[in-house]
Amino acid sequence: MTETLYLDDSYLKEWEAKVVSVKDSGKGTLFVTLDKSAFYPNSGGQPHDEGVMIRKSDNKEFNVIFVGKFSGEVSHEINCGENESLKPEDIVECKLNWERRYKLMKMHTACHILAGVLHKECKAMITGNQLNIEKSRIDFSVEEYNPEMMANYIAESNKIAAEGHENKVYYVDKNEDVDKFMRLAKGLPENITNVRIVEIVGFDIQPDGGTHVKNTKEVGNLKFLKSENKGKNNRRLYFELE
Ligand SMILES: [Zn+2]
Repeated sequence: MTETLYLDDSYLKEWEAKVVSVKDSGKGTLFVTLDKSAFYPNSGGQPHDEGVMIRKSDNKEFNVIFVGKFSGEVSHEINCGENESLKPEDIVECKLNWERRYKLMKMHTACHILAGVLHKECKAMITGNQLNIEKSRIDFSVEEYNPEMMANYIAESNKIAAEGHENKVYYVDKNEDVDKFMRLAKGLPENITNVRIVEIVGFDIQPDGGTHVKNTKEVGNLKFLKSENKGKNNRRLYFELE
């Protein structure tokens, strides 16, 4: 199993790793697994990281264009030329496209702030979300839908962001009562024993697998873009960061 470095250190941008397996996609790319990786795989509404792997022996650089997680292994899709390929046991220096990742970290923490506000103000549960570089989307369920309130929820979120709450990550046993922190309508996956918690100290606690900023001040300002009403289980809100 890949050691997933992004879970414990969101700010790790460069690290050395050993290639474990290489599979040809047949389309000019390779699927590579490493002994350890800080490349975040596409999951939980947070898009995958991008970046490069540089082979130590000859400084040959490979672009990481997609990252997914399959049966516990983080699989990196890389571009390769005709006679250029990574091989198992190769040592590579990995570098994240930090600008992209940092934006996604800010977006993810912004989403948690907004989810916390929606839960406190109208007991909303989160039914879906899709983070992105330019704008993000959050879906939630609530009986009484009042579009005029959306601007207030964004304003409240900005207040929380500006207050500069510490945002920390730790683990609790599944047997601990984590349900009370649940903001996701679908609940936790069956097979997990250790639950990773992301806590915005003094404001909100959520089980989560994503990468986050350390302090809500880093988020900046949320700007409301639009809301849509797709039924009581699917109120949808788009925002960007300024
Ligand atoms: Zn999250």
